[in-house]
Amino acid sequence: MHETVIASSLLKIILEEANKQNKALLVDEIHLKIGLLNCIEPQTVQGCFEILAENTPAAKAKMIIERMPLQGFCKNCQKHVEIHKRQFHCPNCMSSDVDWQGGNEMQITSINVHEQEE
Ligand SMILES: [Zn+2]
Repeated sequence: MHETVIASSLLKIILEEANKQNKALLVDEIHLKIGLLNCIEPQTVQGCFEILAENTPAAKAKMIIERMPLQGFCKNCQKHVEIHKRQFHCPNCMSSDVDWQGGNEMQITSINVHEQEE
């Protein structure tokens, strides 16, 4: 399953980040941004992540996933536009003659950690 692969690579990145600092850290929150066209299901990723993260410093981490708007250029009104839903027409003139850019990205925007108490 696609989401399992994503969840395990996320976990790897996050644990590497946490291990870079020479302290026992616990991961509290992971903030992600996902492009509007990326078809992964946030809830499924979170579910997989919880299973994979068991017994790691990220076991209690909360995943906060934000959808990124899709950017495009409308050829009809010659303007840069963005949409927040998968309705592929210009929000100004309703034209479908729009060059959409990206939409499949996924990035970790921040990881919140705290030091483990002895
Ligand atoms: Zn337009």
